[in-house]
Amino acid sequence: MSRLIYADNAATTQMDSVAFEAMKPFLTGEYGNASQPYSFSRRPKKALQDARETIAACIGAAPEEIFFTSGGTESDNWAIKGSAFLNTRKQATVTSAFEHHAVLHPCEVLERNGYPVSYMWPSREGYITTEIFRKYINSQTYLTSVMFANNEIGTIQPIKELCTTAHRNGSLFHTDAVQAVGHVSLDVHDLGVDMLSASAHKFNGPKGVGFLYIRNGLRIQPYSDGGAQEAGLRAGTENVAGIVGMAAALKNNCDALEENTRHIRRLESKLVDMLDSSGIKYIRNGGAIRLPGFLSLSFPNADGETILHRLDLSGICISTGSACNSKRTEISHVLQAIRLEDSYAKGTVRISLGKANTEVDVEAIFKALTKIFRT
Ligand code: PLP
Repeated sequence: MSRLIYADNAATTQMDSVAFEAMKPFLTGEYGNASQPYSFSRRPKKALQDARETIAACIGAAPEEIFFTSGGTESDNWAIKGSAFLNTRKQATVTSAFEHHAVLHPCEVLERNGYPVSYMWPSREGYITTEIFRKYINSQTYLTSVMFANNEIGTIQPIKELCTTAHRNGSLFHTDAVQAVGHVSLDVHDLGVDMLSASAHKFNGPKGVGFLYIRNGLRIQPYSDGGAQEAGLRAGTENVAGIVGMAAALKNNCDALEENTRHIRRLESKLVDMLDSSGIKYIRNGGAIRLPGFLSLSFPNADGETILHRLDLSGICISTGSACNSKRTEISHVLQAIRLEDSYAKGTVRISLGKANTEVDVEAIFKALTKIFRT
C-alpha cells in the first residue's frame, strides 16, 4: 500500500496535536459536568470560558457572542430557522443557489412553513456580487444567508459589501464560514455580519463540534430547550473536550495563518504550473479570489468518479465534489449553479491542499493525473 496523500482538506482536516493534547484531560480525569456548582467542576467550567474567549479573539467577537454547537450543519440550521421563525410576518429569505445543503435544506423547511425564499445564481466565476444581490433584496427581506467561501470551488464572496447592502434594506445577514474560519483572516465586526457559522473539523480541530457567532443584541430562537447552557439558547451538557480542542486548533491556525497560506499557495501554484506545462486539457473552476489550496479541476469528456478511484489506487484522497454528495454521480448543484458545460462538469474533481501537504504530495498527484490523461 502506497503512502497516504491526503488532498481532501475541504472535506475534513487532520486534527492538530495541540488540539488533542488540550482535549486529553477533559476526556479522562476532568470529567466534571461544567454546570455543577462543586469545585470538581471548576476546571471544565473555566475551560469553556477560556475556549469562548480564545475563539472570540480569533474572529474579533466578544466571548458572549460565541455559542457552541455540534458543527457547521447545526450552526447553519440554527441561524436560519432560529432567526427566520421569529419573524411572524413571514418575510422573505434570500440565499444563493450554491450554498452547502446545511443552508439549502433549512431554507426548504422555511418554504414548507410558508416563508418565501429566493435563491441567487452566482456569476460563472462563482461569485455573488452586490449587483446580483440587488436584484433579489428588497424591504421585504428579513434574512440573507451567503456563504463566506464555496466548499466546492473555493471562491470567496464579498461578504462585507453584501452585508452592507443587506442592512441598508433592513435584512439580517448570516454567513456560513465553515470553509473559511481558520484559513483566512476575518473579523465579524469589520464584516458587519449578524451570524456566522463555523466547524472545528475544517480547521484541524475535532469532529462534531463548532460554533455560531450571534451578534450581541440579536434575538434568535433557542436551538434546544431543556437546560441553561449557552445562555439558555442551546440546552444540553457541553462537549467540553471538543470545545477545548476546537479553541486550541483555531488559535494554532490563526497564529500561523500567514505562514500556512504562503505554503499552501506555493503548493497550489506548483500543481497548476505542472498541469499547464503538461499539455493535459483541463479548466480550473472559479475566479481568482478563492481559498488557499482549493483546485476544482474539470477534465473534458472524463469521469470524476473514475479519476477519484484511480487516484485512490495510488493512495491519494481527493473528492469529486463536496464530500456530502460524493456518493452521487450527478453533477453537483454548485457546478450547475456556475453553468459549467456538462462535458466538463462530469469530469470534475476537487483537490484541496492543506498545511500538512508537501511538494512531494503535489508531485505524486500530478504524476497520478498524468497517468490517467496521457495514456
Ligand atoms: N457548510 C459548509 C460550507 C461545509 O463545507 C460543510 C461541510 O462540508 C458544512 C457546512 C457542514 O459542516 P459539518 O460537517 O461541521 O456539519
